[in-house]
Amino acid sequence: EAKENGKNTYVYFDTKMQEAVKEKTYIENKLIDALKTNNFQILYQPIYDIKTGEVVSFEALLRIKDSNISPAKFIPIAEKSNLIVDIGNWVIENVLSQIREWLNRGINVKPVSINISVKQFLDGTFLDLIKEYLDENNIYRDLIQLEITESLLLEKNEHTIQKLKTIKDLGIKLILDDFGTGYSSLSYLTYIPVDRVKLDKSLNDRFVNKYNIETIKNIIGLIKSLDLTVTAEGIETMEQVEILRQIGCDYVQGYVFSKPLIAEGCIDLLKN
Ligand code: C2E
Ligand code: MG
Ligand code: MG
Ligand code: MG
Repeated sequence: EAKENGKNTYVYFDTKMQEAVKEKTYIENKLIDALKTNNFQILYQPIYDIKTGEVVSFEALLRIKDSNISPAKFIPIAEKSNLIVDIGNWVIENVLSQIREWLNRGINVKPVSINISVKQFLDGTFLDLIKEYLDENNIYRDLIQLEITESLLLEKNEHTIQKLKTIKDLGIKLILDDFGTGYSSLSYLTYIPVDRVKLDKSLNDRFVNKYNIETIKNIIGLIKSLDLTVTAEGIETMEQVEILRQIGCDYVQGYVFSKPLIAEGCIDLLKN
């Protein structure tokens, strides 16, 4: 009987694996198709100054049109299949033409943050492409910001650090995203040349007791002692906002104020 159970388990995992492969292939094809048919869309989530309530910037978040496959699912698949370079370029190109369109309409545009994958960043054409799109659209460099994660710098790689410095020298702000997950340690911040740090949702979900609040307050204090600004992401309640304000956080992003919006939905926010 034990033997039979073992066999069933084997069949079970085999089926699971086939399903996973099928899903991956399905999503890969969806991505290839979306690149061909322009079937992506960018949503923009506002980020607010915690003191004044003013919108200070937006984060560009990619969607596949007419699909509810989350980027948390399709981005890792795009990264593994190398599609991320083309998709990432699509995002940069489209964010910049959106900014140009807003500028043409006389709208008081705020900086837009773009998420950059490791492979995309390391691609030889990355920097030139950004410069090209900025120049083509005649856009000031401070209107875009790049969000990177610590996976870019699991070891101190001089070449990567140099490239980050080049970007900063161009006048483009760098944001360390998802801080507080993975291996992030405060020591990274002393050698990654970033301007801002985003505290991950998982950190901000932990405001349940005094000890955690004190810990996060210390983290914010250390980040700010390095002259970096702090954004908290994934904020869903006013209670969290209140605590964050008290412990020195600069900016907030989350459903409590706004979900990611279609481009046209940002206009009213930018007018006020
Ligand atoms: P991220 O860069 O950390 O983006 C923040 C995520 O948190 C977004 O998920 C956003 O919609 C979500 N979020 C914001 N406020 C709240 C909240 O109050 N509650 C909850 N539950 N979630 C909130 P989204 O749009 O699903 O994107 C997931 C991840 O996919 C992003 O995480 C980013 O790593 C990646 N991603 C999205 N767009 C792009 C892109 O254009 N390029 C690359 N390379 N990655 C992208
Ligand atoms: Mg991000
Ligand atoms: Mg994040
Ligand atoms: Mg994330």
